[in-house]
Amino acid sequence: MKPTPGTLYIVSAPSGAGKTSLVNALIDADAGICVSVSHTTRAMRPGEVNGVNYHFVDRDTFLAMIEHGDFLEQAEVFGNLYGTSMSSLQQTLDAGQDLILEIDWQGGEQVRKLIPGTRSIFILPPSQEALFQRLTNRGTDSDDIIEGRMREAVNEMRHYVEYDYLVINDDFATALSDLKAIFRANRLSQPLQNTRHAQLLQGLLAERG
Ligand code: 5GP
Repeated sequence: MKPTPGTLYIVSAPSGAGKTSLVNALIDADAGICVSVSHTTRAMRPGEVNGVNYHFVDRDTFLAMIEHGDFLEQAEVFGNLYGTSMSSLQQTLDAGQDLILEIDWQGGEQVRKLIPGTRSIFILPPSQEALFQRLTNRGTDSDDIIEGRMREAVNEMRHYVEYDYLVINDDFATALSDLKAIFRANRLSQPLQNTRHAQLLQGLLAERG
């Protein structure tokens, strides 16, 4: 993929760390950031909307999409398939929008290799107890599923070292402000500023007399 004015971000977190709420608040606050809608074979949860939270598809459809080369990356998480389709990605980044992929560490690993310049953020809960509490409060899953998710969460968190940034979601407002700071600082990086302010820089460096 050629360099683009928009930046691709991987955002990963264990289930229950508050990733989706934080990402939603971030895109509400900044029109320059959007989030990619993944495909999944998992069942829809109450309140979820097809095409908004995910594109919900059956396993055969998902496997046909893999066969067709439709996915940038895909992974199996908790026995369900998840994937990022390639279609709107390049268009969004070319338009100068920053694009978030809310994906697990396996997807993160694939995207990092495929698209140099990708930035990655890992969101962590303040403690295992807090994570357990959040998973229980969701009220949608049985005890067995919650225990399974806790084990998966610890496995997911082992991968934090592969990420560029760590955000601890203890206080929501602080975590959101940390996320905003990452996007803001990245936009001020020399290569992106160089593209955005090419004319200004040319003027500043013009030979004198
Ligand atoms: P959930 O089913 O709770 O929405 O998501 C379960 C896990 O799948 C989370 O870690 C989430 O980040 C991950 N996930 C969601 N979409 C994708 C995707 O397109 N690719 C990959 N690799 N992981 C995904």
